Amino acid sequence: MPPQAEDTTTSVSARRWAPIGMAAGLVLVTAAGWQWLQAGSHAPAEAMTPEATTHSEEDFVPDINKTEEQWQAELTPEQFKVTRQKGTERPYTGKYWNHKEPGKYKCVCCGAELFTSATKYDSGCGWPSFYAADQPDNLHTEADRSWGMVRTEVMCKKCGAHLGHVFDDGPQPTGVRFCMNSASLDFEPEEGSGEGNAKTPSRKDAE
Ligand code: FE
Repeated sequence: MPPQAEDTTTSVSARRWAPIGMAAGLVLVTAAGWQWLQAGSHAPAEAMTPEATTHSEEDFVPDINKTEEQWQAELTPEQFKVTRQKGTERPYTGKYWNHKEPGKYKCVCCGAELFTSATKYDSGCGWPSFYAADQPDNLHTEADRSWGMVRTEVMCKKCGAHLGHVFDDGPQPTGVRFCMNSASLDFEPEEGSGEGNAKTPSRKDAE
């Protein structure tokens, strides 16, 4: 009988410590995951050139939901590829990377106001760059883990359009750089700015 009693003692001891070991493991995994997510805001500027093809599993549901066919019918092929398929236009090729007129930049898909010329600056990266959003409530950000990197993707909160990424290498006073695709934006000139008094049509259905 003594050997059996000894076995029982060992078994009870193992059962007692097992939950503590599991809890410790969970804490370590959670901490590692949190650090991984945080790394997105420190991604280097040069890490954003490849096209993004995969994205976060976060459960983000935009207000406007249309089918791929509907968006395809409304947008140009370039706009569709960037906004609905998370593409990235080549640097120095978009219509707004070097655009300096005063006015507002809106989501090309739904017209939500996003940025203004007041916070646009020349970052040298070849994409339209802003150090602050004009309407932060219209933006949704989430971790983008494509291409073996963790970056912070910026999307239109209203329609889910992919706009670009945000990095922490921007100028003061914010220190952030919203690096956007021209194809995701529509420009509305300020009245009397000399660019005409109507907004610049860029969508297929606005031409
Ligand atoms: Fe939108």
